Amino acid sequence: MRPWELHDSVVIGAGVVGASIAYHLAARGEAVTVVDAALPASGATRHSFAWISDGGGPDGPALGLRDFAVEDWRRLGTEIPGLELVWSGALTWGDEFGRSSAIAPPIDVEPRLAHLPVRARFSPEEGWIDPVRVTEQLIDAARRHGAQTLFGAPALRLIRDEAAGTVGVDLGHVVLAAKNVIVAAGTGSSALCRSIEVDLPMTSAPAIMVRLSAPPGLIARIVANDEFEARQGPDGTILLPRGYSGEDSDEALARTGEAVRRLLVDSFEDADDVRLQSVDVGWRPMMSDGEPAIGATRVPGVHVAVAHPGVCLAATIGRIVAAEITTSAAAPELARFRPTRFD
Ligand SMILES: Cc1cc2nc3c(=O)[nH]c(=O)nc-3n(C[C@H](O)[C@H](O)[C@H](O)COP(=O)(O)OP(=O)(O)OC[C@H]3O[C@@H](n4cnc5c(N)ncnc54)[C@H](O)[C@@H]3O)c2cc1C
Repeated sequence: MRPWELHDSVVIGAGVVGASIAYHLAARGEAVTVVDAALPASGATRHSFAWISDGGGPDGPALGLRDFAVEDWRRLGTEIPGLELVWSGALTWGDEFGRSSAIAPPIDVEPRLAHLPVRARFSPEEGWIDPVRVTEQLIDAARRHGAQTLFGAPALRLIRDEAAGTVGVDLGHVVLAAKNVIVAAGTGSSALCRSIEVDLPMTSAPAIMVRLSAPPGLIARIVANDEFEARQGPDGTILLPRGYSGEDSDEALARTGEAVRRLLVDSFEDADDVRLQSVDVGWRPMMSDGEPAIGATRVPGVHVAVAHPGVCLAATIGRIVAAEITTSAAAPELARFRPTRFD
């Protein structure tokens, strides 16, 4: 017999979504254990552009939920001392970002942009996070509220014990039995749900993250248009996410990186000293219908949280999931996003 340990809530996955859920549960006084196969933010979160945008108009996934994103991240910024949120604002234009109220942007909004667009939208309330750093900060904040963490501990499968009214997480050497298990395991969520015969159809998609080294101060805001999205951190590193277009070797990734570097050099003034730092592929956890799957499954005690764009939504998901679990009241905001739609 392997040992059983009884827990209140076990969160599987310490990406930004699981970390936020763990923090919100712990802050509500729930005894939480977070397990991750690796370290916090080692999945999609690590490669994220991590743009926290406002509603962004009537298109795209998670309509309705996205309206809360900025407000919830700002709330977390007041709850967690030192949480590193960067409210840089975002300058967007072009067909893909054809949001409402496009006007001539203020001339000094992005001073080194080579060609200021005639019409654009400047959203001062938007921003970004360093996704690894902030996920670690959320985990630390959860710990300060009493959460336990187990890293380097892959969950092999979920277990149900109907007689005892518990569910469990099999870690191989030990089984964590719990009143609630929250599956926030990114692209690993579907396989875990399958182990208790819950169907969670996912079509996770790759995307590329190009990192460039540059002197700080080249890019002031998030800048996004039909050709590129970019932002620059205080150490000078510039991040540009790209769609994956079949790169199948380090050489192919380096070619993509170099093309992106040239695009950036052409788009900003005096940017010749920008260098390629790295090119990585990240897998974005996505449901087959493109919408988030958040909330209770048909198995009592098992909840899931899989969403894109997950960084933007993480603060909101954490708040709502923790409230549902601790009050047992169904949140109306999740009505369109329940995982039971796949049953
Ligand atoms: C290039 C790129 C750019 C992006 N840009 C943005 C953006 O600008 N804004 C935005 O909001 N989103 C963006 N995204 C998407 C965003 O990164 C993801 O939606 C988000 O990080 C998902 O977080 P998560 O916590 O759900 O999953 P993950 O970060 O993947 O975390 C899942 C965790 O679960 C763990 N795990 C998996 N299986 C198991 C198991 N069996 N047992 C234990 N642990 C397990 C993993 O180790 C991992 O740590 C981008 C993604 C990419 C790749």
